[in-house]
Amino acid sequence: MIAPDLSRFIAGLPKAELHVHHVGAASPRVVAELAARYEGDTAVPADPALVEAFYDFRDFTHFLQTYLQVVDLVRTPEDLWTLIYGVGGDMAAQQVRYAELTITPHPHLARGFAPREFCEVIEDARRRVEADFGTLLRWCFDIPGIPGPPADQTLSLALDQRPDGLVSLGLGGPEDGVPRSQFAPHFAAARAAGLHSVPHAGEVTSADYVWQAVRDLGAERIAHGIRSVEDPALLDYLAEHEITLEVCPTSNVCTRAVPSLAEHPLPALVQAGVPVTVNSDDPPMFGTDLNREYAVAAELLSLDEKGVADLARAAVKASFLGAEGKSALLAEIDAYAAQNSSAPLT
Ligand SMILES: [Zn+2]
Repeated sequence: MIAPDLSRFIAGLPKAELHVHHVGAASPRVVAELAARYEGDTAVPADPALVEAFYDFRDFTHFLQTYLQVVDLVRTPEDLWTLIYGVGGDMAAQQVRYAELTITPHPHLARGFAPREFCEVIEDARRRVEADFGTLLRWCFDIPGIPGPPADQTLSLALDQRPDGLVSLGLGGPEDGVPRSQFAPHFAAARAAGLHSVPHAGEVTSADYVWQAVRDLGAERIAHGIRSVEDPALLDYLAEHEITLEVCPTSNVCTRAVPSLAEHPLPALVQAGVPVTVNSDDPPMFGTDLNREYAVAAELLSLDEKGVADLARAAVKASFLGAEGKSALLAEIDAYAAQNSSAPLT
């Protein structure tokens, strides 16, 4: 456990989050509200307390199955808007000033959303979140780990609609047996159109998947990438090329990607000089939030207030926020750290 003073410092610290999924970030209150709209036609409970119990995952596969049951609650534009707006409000309450929210459009399009309608709804929710809470949201459109039409459809949505908030193309879904390289044409097209490349790799698969993401998908950051720790040459490469890993410690324990927090490779990654950020991934599903992940990182890395503020700065620097926005947010972190440091003034 970290000291209460450090917890308070983290809670008030202005932060950026780079790895969080839109459905996975929905609070049990919002999920229960959506489930109530479809009672009798969903296994998801319509009671927030029961939603929390519903999120007890046996393994990564069970997690993905549960995740898709919650995705299936988003059936109308109003459902989608409610979800995004709720996530934005929850982030603002944690002093998240900027977030790149990973959205997997495929299941929503398969449910009947028209591409333009889908983008209009998320953009409207994004603008309302910014106006009401001051939190900037940006989108990472995520290929759901399925080649063929789902991957093609995701790319087309990104390139044809190109909503203002879109900054990157991602690759999520199942990893095992889903080589990253097969999506090279999609990432090449996205990058040619000016989008950034942020695939999941090395979460539950080997370092080879991270190499594929770097070499074949032009990854600028890697979602998770924790298994890079098994390959010293890869660690050197990531450090040298400043490819940031979006590390989500509690998520990795909940999906059984690592056996326990005590055995999490975060310290080894930092030791190897690899840039890292700390993120919540699917926070209510994993019984966490971004503040808690900062506390976990502080414990694993023995960080003090300065170390925690540096972690927040690392997320801003590795983000796809423009130069002006980055400077403003970094200045805000500096001012907060200066005003709230419990260290004696010398
Ligand atoms: Zn993820």
